[in-house]
Amino acid sequence: MLQEDVFKKLVAHCKEYGFVFQSSEIYDGLSAVYDYAQNGVELKNNIKKYWWDSMILLHENIVGIDSAIFMHPTIWKASGHVDAFNDPLIDNKDSKKRYRADVLIEEQLAKYEDKIGKEIEKARKRFGETFDEKQFRKTNGRVLEYQQKWDELQARFVKALNDSNLDELKQIIIDQEIVCPVSGTRNWTDVRQFNLMFSTEMGSTADGALKIYLRPETAQGIFVNYLNVQKTGRMKIPFGIAQIGKAFRNEIVARQFIFRMREFEQMELQFFVRPGTELEWFAKWKQTRMNWHQALGFGSDNYRFHEHDKLAHYANAAVDVEFRFPFGFKEVEGIHSRTDFDLSQHQQFSGKKIQYFDPELNESYVPFVVETSIGVDRMFLQIMAASYAEEEIASEDGKKDIRVVLRIPAPLAPVKLAVLPLMKKDGLAEKTREIIDDLKFDFNCQYDEKDSIGKRYRRQDAIGTPFCVTVDHQSMEDNTVTIRYRDTMLQDRVAIGDLKNIIAGEVSMKKLFAKL
Ligand code: ATP
Repeated sequence: MLQEDVFKKLVAHCKEYGFVFQSSEIYDGLSAVYDYAQNGVELKNNIKKYWWDSMILLHENIVGIDSAIFMHPTIWKASGHVDAFNDPLIDNKDSKKRYRADVLIEEQLAKYEDKIGKEIEKARKRFGETFDEKQFRKTNGRVLEYQQKWDELQARFVKALNDSNLDELKQIIIDQEIVCPVSGTRNWTDVRQFNLMFSTEMGSTADGALKIYLRPETAQGIFVNYLNVQKTGRMKIPFGIAQIGKAFRNEIVARQFIFRMREFEQMELQFFVRPGTELEWFAKWKQTRMNWHQALGFGSDNYRFHEHDKLAHYANAAVDVEFRFPFGFKEVEGIHSRTDFDLSQHQQFSGKKIQYFDPELNESYVPFVVETSIGVDRMFLQIMAASYAEEEIASEDGKKDIRVVLRIPAPLAPVKLAVLPLMKKDGLAEKTREIIDDLKFDFNCQYDEKDSIGKRYRRQDAIGTPFCVTVDHQSMEDNTVTIRYRDTMLQDRVAIGDLKNIIAGEVSMKKLFAKL
C-alpha cells in the first residue's frame, strides 16, 4: 500500500474509532486544531503518564510544575520570541497558497535523498547478498551526481539560514526550479518573516489593556520559576524541572493532521547543570530520550537522530529525534543545550539575580540548561502510525477477511480489557458485570454485549484493547473464562480470580520502565 494511502486510512481510523476529531466540525472545522475523543484522550493521558513517571519517579533530582499559559509579556522579549520567533514565508502568486520557504527547500533535499535511496534499492535487488552499499555510494555515477547536488544545496541553504538572508532563500527556490504543488508554477513572491506567536489583550481597554501572548513553548514557565523551585525544593545542581502543557503557534502551513497544529501540547524538561558540563549532559539526555522511545518496541530502524545545521540563537548543541512517519522521517522531539541564555536574559530583564551557589566549588553562577522537548500530539501520531496494521485472517465463515488492529503497547492502550458475555441470558450478563465491578478500580474496562463475539473482538482490535475476556456457560459452573490476546488472537482458559494478575503484568508501565 502507498504510504500516502496508509496515512489517509490512519486519519479516517482516528475519526471512526473515536480517537481524534476535527475541532468545531459542525461549523466546518477550524484549521489545524483538533479535539481528542473518547479513546484518544485515554491514549494521550497514558502517553503523558509514561513521560511524566519516567522523569519524576525514575529521577530523584527531577520535580514537576504546572505553570500558567498567560505570562508577563516581558518574558517573551527576554526569551527572544518577540523579535526572533519567525518562520520565512513565501506565497505562490497563482495559487495564492502560502508556504514555509525553508520547508520547500528541505523537501527538495529530501527528493535528492529519495533518488539516492531508489538507486541503492535497485542495486541491492540486482546484486543480492554481495551488495556493498558503502562501496556503491562511493562509486556509482548517478548516486555521486545526486549526492553532489544535495551537498551544494545543503551548504547554500545552511548559509542562507545562518545569515537570515531571505533574498538568497528565494533565489535557491528559483534556482532549484521548485514549483508550487497546487498551481505547478514558479511565480513566487519575495520571502518574508512571520512571527508565530498569538497575542491577545488582558484587562479592559479603558484601563489600558496589556498585550499578552499565548505561550509558544512551555519552557519559559520553567525558567521564570527556577529560583522558586530551587529554593523551596532545596534542589542541588544537577537537577531538572519537568512540565506538560499547552503551547500555541500560528503555523504558516499546517498540514499532516495532528503533526503540525496551532494549539498543541508539549512535555518539556529543563535540566540545570554546572557550566562546562552541559555537553556531557546533552549526550546523556540524547541517549536517555532515545531509549524512552525505543522501549515502545516499534523497531530501532524507525528512529534516527538529526543534528541541527543551524542552531537556535540560544543553543550550543541541538539534535532531533526523528521517527519514520508514513510521510517520511520527521521530528518528534528536540534536545537542546540552551547554555545559560534564558536564565541570563531573565536576570537582565527582571533585574533579579538568578544564580546558584555551588557549595562544592564555593562559587555562584548562572546554571546551564539542557532541554528535552517532545510534542504529545506527535508522539500520539507516532504511536498510531506504528500500531496500525491490516492483517489477512480467516473470517467466521472460513473466507479470507481483513482485520484492522492497533498494536498499541499494552501500558498505553486506551482500554485494557473488554469483558463480553457470550450471550445476555442465563445469568452470563450479570456474571460479566461482577467481573467488571471487581476489575474496574485497576483497569479501564469495557462491557459489550452487542453482535457476534467475532465482531466484538474486531471492534476491540480496532481500538487496540490488549485483552478480551469472554464469559460463557462454563464460567457459571467453574468460574473460568477465556482470555483472548489481541496480537496473537490466541485464547486461554483461566480462572476469574487470576485475571487481575495476568492483566496487571502486561499493562503496567513497569514493563516499559524496565527497558530504560
Ligand atoms: P518544527 O521544526 O517541526 O516546526 P520545532 O523544531 O519548531 O518543530 P520545537 O520548538 O523544538 O519544534 O518544539 C519541540 C517539540 O514540540 C517538537 O519536537 C514537536 O514534537 C512539538 N511541536 C512543535 N511545534 C508543533 C506543532 N505546531 N504541532 C504539534 N507539535 C509541535
